[in-house]
Amino acid sequence: MIATQLQQLWQELQGTPCRLIAVSKTKPAEMILEAYQAGQRLFGENKVQEMVAKHEQLPADIEWHLIGHLQSNKVKYIAPFVSMIHSVDSERLLAEIDRRAAQNGRAIDCLLQMHIAQEETKFGFSEQEAEALLESTAFAQLQHVRVVGLMGMATNTDDEQQVRREFRHLRALFEQYKQRFQGPNLDWKEVSMGMSGDYAIAVEEGSTLVRVGSAIFGDRQYGH
Ligand SMILES: *Cc1c(COP(=O)(O)O)cnc(C)c1O
Repeated sequence: MIATQLQQLWQELQGTPCRLIAVSKTKPAEMILEAYQAGQRLFGENKVQEMVAKHEQLPADIEWHLIGHLQSNKVKYIAPFVSMIHSVDSERLLAEIDRRAAQNGRAIDCLLQMHIAQEETKFGFSEQEAEALLESTAFAQLQHVRVVGLMGMATNTDDEQQVRREFRHLRALFEQYKQRFQGPNLDWKEVSMGMSGDYAIAVEEGSTLVRVGSAIFGDRQYGH
């Protein structure tokens, strides 16, 4: 079942520059292993403790992507192994990631989470905030983070045109920042957008990383 869903998604992404992150939050290690054995290597989690536990149990060549809101005091638990943090939404968090990455002798790939939806509740930088960060001398001094792109979540709506506009805007912002901001800790290459309900639109609008959960693993029982 999981393998069938994955094969269909891989097929849809074939010939595009977009990679699939299998969002395994709330799902047991056995289901992740099933996806792994089918060939999937990129997995997304939104909770630190859950990611740490799964990382310890599962094959070492899995790339773990943190996609949910991250509290600064929890960065230390994932800093040794996390592959990419999609949900950077403050300068303070980025500075803490830098500090913990340095302690682990590595640099951590990060995405700036942009607030592109109309909903009030979602986390993320405004454009003004992101630009202030990218222009700051504090940012220029960070040597153990690499900002590799932007992440965004579209409004949860049936209005496809609105979702498309929001994704298109995020891609345009990415192109603009790529031209405008350069430096040793910047490597503009990823636009993380698209989930089970809207990944097809996201791919059409230039996503490079789709984060798909329920379309692979089925509905989640509780929360999230
Ligand atoms: C849960 C989650 C997803 C995946 O959602 P699905 O609708 O199950 O595909 C993607 N991105 C983020 C940030 C999430 O929290």
